[in-house]
Amino acid sequence: MIASVLPTYSRAPLTFVKGQGTWLMEEDGRRFLDLGAGIAVNALGHAHPKLVEAITAQAGALWHTSNLYHIPQQQALADKLVDATFADTVFFTNSGTESCELAVKMVRKYWFDKGAPEKVDIITFDGSFHGRSSAGIAAAGSEKMTKGFGPLLPGFTHLPFGDHQALTAAITDTTAAILVEPVQGEGGIRALPDQCLKGLRDLCDEHNILLVLDEVQCGVGRTGKLFAHEWAGIEPDIMMVAKGIGGGFPLGAVLATENAALGMTAGTHGSTYGGNPMGCAVGCAVLDEINTPEFLADVNRKAGTLRQKLEGLIAAHPDVFDSVRGAGLMMGIKCKANNIDVVNAGYDNEVITVPAADNVIRLLPPLNISDAEITQAIARLDKAAMSLTT
Ligand SMILES: *Cc1c(COP(=O)(O)O)cnc(C)c1O
Repeated sequence: MIASVLPTYSRAPLTFVKGQGTWLMEEDGRRFLDLGAGIAVNALGHAHPKLVEAITAQAGALWHTSNLYHIPQQQALADKLVDATFADTVFFTNSGTESCELAVKMVRKYWFDKGAPEKVDIITFDGSFHGRSSAGIAAAGSEKMTKGFGPLLPGFTHLPFGDHQALTAAITDTTAAILVEPVQGEGGIRALPDQCLKGLRDLCDEHNILLVLDEVQCGVGRTGKLFAHEWAGIEPDIMMVAKGIGGGFPLGAVLATENAALGMTAGTHGSTYGGNPMGCAVGCAVLDEINTPEFLADVNRKAGTLRQKLEGLIAAHPDVFDSVRGAGLMMGIKCKANNIDVVNAGYDNEVITVPAADNVIRLLPPLNISDAEITQAIARLDKAAMSLTT
């Protein structure tokens, strides 16, 4: 008999009932150090007092009206994002996949309104992940996600990761945009070198196509800048955001330049919940906390500490671990042992990591993890690795 919850997930035998900062309490009383943060979602950890205050105040005042009316919290968050980024305008969603949907629609509408309706093709890369909607799976294109779900949304060209020649050759008169994650998350924490991101921007300018960045996982302070593309000194035309921006409340956004958004006039897109008062009240509190020079400097400092300690950990367990990669507090350890075994050994030692493709485990801790917790994390991962070799 089918489970009452549609069985699309293979879940770990863990049930968390309470969270505090970087810690999660299992129903049996064990305390887990959370280096997963709900897959880079709980950017400020669990039960952050300022987020609890923001959502509690909003919950007592007003939960939902509709985008038929003005929503002050939405306006405030849009203004903050426009102030802080390349963007001139923001649309709010509830998830990364919805942000992908709008990004794709925006690209196509742009070229349609520019009088080039033949420009519909979007170039994407192997190992990418853009969500589970029909557009999201067609964009990523992996068989794992698309098999059995055809016919797929047409108009995506999938290229190998990091193959410059293939990229130049793939651009045609129907190319509308390039869509890329500055740091691939699900694909195994694969960072696009700054030079490549610059190269993509140049290529887009040269061929007059739009650059769309998916910063759903790598954005909102995760890499030590507010958004990862800032490291390369470039700006996209359109950017997808979600995960960390809501700190655990379902919230996403599409940021765009005025030019890229030119076709998105009244009636062209909408969402019942997108930009609701609850989500945007929390989003404002998240952004106020993360987007300060002091907070981001601290992320970078701790990222350096973590990376150094991970190098030591890997050197101590050459049979289990291979190498460390990533940016900021978005770290991946390529494993020699099976990555799922490593994640499970972590559970046995009360530390949470997240598996990714390419036999990698991901470390995506809350951005406000303390130095003492980083030391603890390494000690627990050390014990986990030890348990795999004895
Ligand atoms: C998680 C993720 C998505 C999809 O977000 P959902 O909120 O799960 O729909 C899209 N792109 C990237 C890079 C992601 O990591």
